[in-house]
Amino acid sequence: MYWEQSLETLDRSSLEKLQIERLTNSLQLAVRSSHYGRCPAIGRLLDSGIKSIEQIRDLPFTTKDDLRRDFPWGFLAADKKDVVRLHSSSGTTGNPTVVYHNRHDLDSWANLMARSLYAAGVRETDVFQNICGYGLFTGGLGFQYGIEKLGCLSIPAGAGNSPRQIKLMRDFGTTVAHAIPSYLGRLFDVFKEEDLDPREDTRLHTLVIGAEPHTEEHRRRIEEMFGVRAFNSFGLSEMNGPGVAFECIEQNGLHVWEDAFVVEIIDPDTLEPVPDGEIGELVMTTLDRQAMPVIRFRTRDLTRILPGPCPCGRTHRRLDRISGRSDDMFIIKGCNVFPMQVEGILMKLPEVGDDYRIILQTIEDQDEMIVEVEVKKDWFRGDLTLLDRLQKHITHLIRDEVLVRPLIRLVEPGSIPKAEGKAVRVLDQRRK
Ligand code: ADP
Ligand code: ZN
Repeated sequence: MYWEQSLETLDRSSLEKLQIERLTNSLQLAVRSSHYGRCPAIGRLLDSGIKSIEQIRDLPFTTKDDLRRDFPWGFLAADKKDVVRLHSSSGTTGNPTVVYHNRHDLDSWANLMARSLYAAGVRETDVFQNICGYGLFTGGLGFQYGIEKLGCLSIPAGAGNSPRQIKLMRDFGTTVAHAIPSYLGRLFDVFKEEDLDPREDTRLHTLVIGAEPHTEEHRRRIEEMFGVRAFNSFGLSEMNGPGVAFECIEQNGLHVWEDAFVVEIIDPDTLEPVPDGEIGELVMTTLDRQAMPVIRFRTRDLTRILPGPCPCGRTHRRLDRISGRSDDMFIIKGCNVFPMQVEGILMKLPEVGDDYRIILQTIEDQDEMIVEVEVKKDWFRGDLTLLDRLQKHITHLIRDEVLVRPLIRLVEPGSIPKAEGKAVRVLDQRRK
């Protein structure tokens, strides 16, 4: 049932004690870096001694801008000779940042990854295909070492080349695969082109999906297409990468590993904590990383703590699926819109394919929200009045949800350009 029962089911007060002990260690290491060495609040907290984990609020936040400003060495807290790997974020929202690991850090990360996969029901008897870029992106090596630690037969397939992915799956009897959700629709299309059905022609029973925001509707679609259970995996480079928070077999939110991270949810405007159950910005602190501790990192990811215990018995609290990044939100005609609101509507419609994008444009001095929606092949080639009806239907549904009337463009499957890595959902071409 558990990978490390004693840690995963630790009672809350012992867990807090462990967090305090580990936070103290992390702060002592952190001040060796030039960035945190300049922060008097850390010294003050260490001098007075930490009695409750809430005292973490006495420390300043760390932002992506801090990491960029002190690039490349300003956050390094260890001797360079002890550092064995660096990872760099994919730079979805700007210049990349860098994270360093020593041997301890890599072991600890692999263990968290193994624990996460175990919680989702993956076992050493599984054949695990990691469909994910190996390199600076943490999804490749991050999963790799966890899969090996757990003892599965690993297939480090890398990203792309769908026919080869399918061949690997069939040759070696892959039972579990990891990929980003926006890729899986494409993979499914290639199955169909080859006249194969993943439900019949593979041994897949589990998919691990993560690294980009997706809705519950999108997850259900993926489960249906592949005939599997799909588990949500959350992580970010600043907190190692994958293995930060993961769904257990209950699929009811993501256990965040609190022996390795302190979690806070704050109001992004007031920066004050919000009560459990309320949505806010996720703030995280590393507790078990030596080469580069990161304190109170503002992830920009919006989520909430789900109240109540999980039937699986793990005591680590659960995060709700990420509803978006605060910097994903755009304002059009005075309304705040998150791409996931649009996705939630589209993915419920059986006529709609797997890809969409939102284009913001100024048309005749008016800002407009154009939503390009891929429609499944049979529908696209079918009756024009039906397409017309679908277009109107989507317009109404989106307008009711976001309060802005969108311009809907129904397009052929495969016609929306694909991003190299994570999906790009919004293109802002408005006249500034
Ligand atoms: P970048 O910030 O450049 O994309 P990372 O590869 O470190 O670099 O990506 C981390 C980010 O990816 C997270 O902060 C979050 O926005 C997103 N992310 C990761 N996993 C998930 C998930 N399961 N659901 C939603 N978003 C996710
Ligand atoms: Zn659980």
